[in-house]
Amino acid sequence: MQTELQQKNNAHHFQPFSDNKTLAEKGPRIITKAEGVYFYDSAGNKFLDGMAGLWCVNIGYGRKELCDAAAEQMRELPYYNLFFQTTTTPATELAAKIASLAPDHMNKVFFTGSGSEANDTNFRMVRRYWDLKGKPDKKIFISRKNAYHGSTVAAASLGGMGYMHEQGDLPIEGIVHIDQPYWFGEGDGLSPEEFGIKAAQSLEAKILEIGEDKIGAFIAEPFQGAGGVIIPPATYWPEIKRILAKYDILFILDEVISGFGRTGEWFAAQTFDLKPDLMTIAKGLSSGYVPIGGVIVSDKVAQVLIEEGGDFNHGFTYSGHPVAAKVALTNINILDEEGIIKQVKAESSPYLQKRWQELADHPIVGEARGLGMVAAIELVRDKVTKERLEPESKGGGVCRDFAINNGLVMRPCGDTMIISPPLVINEKEIDELIEKAKITLDQTA
Ligand code: PLP
Repeated sequence: MQTELQQKNNAHHFQPFSDNKTLAEKGPRIITKAEGVYFYDSAGNKFLDGMAGLWCVNIGYGRKELCDAAAEQMRELPYYNLFFQTTTTPATELAAKIASLAPDHMNKVFFTGSGSEANDTNFRMVRRYWDLKGKPDKKIFISRKNAYHGSTVAAASLGGMGYMHEQGDLPIEGIVHIDQPYWFGEGDGLSPEEFGIKAAQSLEAKILEIGEDKIGAFIAEPFQGAGGVIIPPATYWPEIKRILAKYDILFILDEVISGFGRTGEWFAAQTFDLKPDLMTIAKGLSSGYVPIGGVIVSDKVAQVLIEEGGDFNHGFTYSGHPVAAKVALTNINILDEEGIIKQVKAESSPYLQKRWQELADHPIVGEARGLGMVAAIELVRDKVTKERLEPESKGGGVCRDFAINNGLVMRPCGDTMIISPPLVINEKEIDELIEKAKITLDQTA
């Protein structure tokens, strides 16, 4: 028998990325509260959140300072916008703080309400940039198969998720997809180093095929998150950098997951030594406490769009929302002042990654990989042939359900199980995560 709230939900709440009919039959789980790295449901079950919500609650749950910041800002100035010609103290202070943490050549921030809106903003900025440069034919975006860049029409088109393209006749015109650097799944007998070069060279091949004069930008996540925590082989980014230096195309780095500490630096651009022209941010920016995203703009792009561009006809009612900005600023200040990202780099990520490697010995694990505070395991029936655990890669769903029953959230991407816990997770909690993951694997096998 479903509760009154579940029944009300079934009747009125159309939930995203769900088969709402099946969900209504089961009755959705109702989440009631959260603290630290744990959350609770209405039946009183406690879960270790191995995914930081949707990769966003970097600072952990229950930080009173963020609630106070929101309440204070709402009392003082919940919202104002005089036709985009005004600012507020939190929006300005947040932009300045982000610029101080971003790579040196990036000093302007355009705010949005989400990561998807930020990637739509990139789409507009890139095309405007080339128009202003007198090269209006440079309209095409190169992205990667199995990338995730959001769910609005342009962002989903930039993404390379086939199941999203199937609905709504996507991608829209002007977006092409190249190979992803997924060595475990697509390495084709090559060493990781050889495969990294090969995957990167599909960018150059595409540029030559289409013509540099038609290409506006290349967009990529530093590591693919929703695609299955696909961490490129060490040779990949250096080869991409070589190619980007050779051709006159812009480079958009989507740091929606990787930004704000996930890799042990403020941004993965620093981890991988990348120099993007535009950088997408969201999620960890506010640790998910309020919706906010943005684009960090390099001096090169800002020079054209701002100094030469006149009006930029793009923006959102909630761009730079004062409450969201105040919460994000408070979040960043805590990450900074409490040294949470330094702690990730020096202690928690080496510990998490060391313990995560123990899972590689399990009979149904074909590979265990990770970086900073993200990690993945590949579920296989045969470690040598890499035969998948279940037909049509359904093993991940089975494993996810066992994990939930064990009080652990791990996310399936086909037969890849991934984690991305709050950055504040401590060693004891990491131990609990690993022990629960081992039990889950035994049950799944
Ligand atoms: N880009 C990446 C890399 C993401 O992982 C996501 C969301 O998961 C997005 C963009 C879209 O962000 P949002 O869901 O805030 O629109």
